[in-house]
Amino acid sequence: MKHDDCIFCKIIAGEIPSAKVYEDDAVYAFLDISQVTTGHTLIIPKTHTTDIFETSEAIAGELFSRVPKVAAAIKKAYQPVGFNIINNNGEFAGQSVFHLHLHLMPRYDESDGFGVKWVERSSEFDADDLENIATKINQAF
Ligand code: AMP
Ligand code: ZN
Repeated sequence: MKHDDCIFCKIIAGEIPSAKVYEDDAVYAFLDISQVTTGHTLIIPKTHTTDIFETSEAIAGELFSRVPKVAAAIKKAYQPVGFNIINNNGEFAGQSVFHLHLHLMPRYDESDGFGVKWVERSSEFDADDLENIATKINQAF
């Protein structure tokens, strides 16, 4: 279902221009206007869904199933040395467009536009801590 106030729904409908990379019945992929790294592509489900928490297994399955071939095309075109796939959910996590999307980000070198903070904290958690955390999540299914 198209959401009238959603910029990505408008892109799918052709009401806002985009640089299309790939399209089929279920997904649309286009260049992120910010081009954090060259070839930075967004892949989105054609069915509007706000974020990962509102997404059905069926929609997620269709979206993720297309990722390998779109990533492979970007890799073939630009020969990156690495590749990050990012999905931001919620404003705090950096989501600014509330139509589910995956960022496909080819990586070139340390000075390309992308970076993440990844703090190693394993010394703060022993096996019991990990077991307790896993149990808490297990019980939430
Ligand atoms: P996020 O911050 O994870 O929600 O990502 C949203 C992304 O959409 C940003 O990286 C924007 O650069 C990108 N974006 C917003 N508007 C457009 C547009 N009209 N065409 C292409 N990319 C867009
Ligand atoms: Zn939408």
